[in-house]
Amino acid sequence: MAQIEDSFMHKGMRRKLVEEIRSKGISDEQVLDAIGAIPRHLFMDNTFVQFAYVDKAFPIAVGQTISQPYTVAFQTQALELKKYDKVLEVGTGSGYQAAVLCRMGASVYTIERQKALYDFARNLLPGLGYRPHFFYGDGYLGLPTYGPFDKIIVTAGASFIPEPLKQQLKIGGIMVIPVGERDLQIMKIITRLSETEYREEDKGGFIFVPLLTGLSD
Ligand code: SAH
Repeated sequence: MAQIEDSFMHKGMRRKLVEEIRSKGISDEQVLDAIGAIPRHLFMDNTFVQFAYVDKAFPIAVGQTISQPYTVAFQTQALELKKYDKVLEVGTGSGYQAAVLCRMGASVYTIERQKALYDFARNLLPGLGYRPHFFYGDGYLGLPTYGPFDKIIVTAGASFIPEPLKQQLKIGGIMVIPVGERDLQIMKIITRLSETEYREEDKGGFIFVPLLTGLSD
């Protein structure tokens, strides 16, 4: 398990990272507060601590990545979170994005298809004071028994928008999902307007690891 140590050096590096993300256009103070508060280095292997506060994605276990801090901030800002929002995250990964959502007061349900990552995040987050509900499963299907959700965030690149996720969004709810080919996805912001109508907005290009079907083992 990662050592829970957060030094002045780490805090200083985080403050710089927050200013960098702000200068790239993130203005939601609650998002910036969360990035400034959460020790991202604890979500990465000890060997790579010096990369934890660089605004870049980074490899974690089993060929996956911890998203770039700017991307985490961008997706989170797009969710227009309110305290106590019930949020589904597809792709727990390191658990960093889930920690950001918890820090902002959301009630978080996060799902991961890689057992090793599910275990890692489930062991790390409670010690930091963040308690999302963890699920090991296929996020394409969402969590029908726990929905509907106020917000849905997908942190892997999808080739299409999974129908079950649309169905599990509350009316008035927002889903943020990168959709496209393997080497480029467009960030889609989807608002559910009624039982049958959705509004779709495109918000620029991003690159994520792919959303895959089924479980890892
Ligand atoms: N939110 C993560 C980013 C992880 S990268 C973080 O903050 O670190 C995307 C993650 O999505 C990977 O861990 C990958 O295993 C997972 N994933 C891909 N397809 C999935 C699916 N169908 N269901 C659940 N998780 C999935």
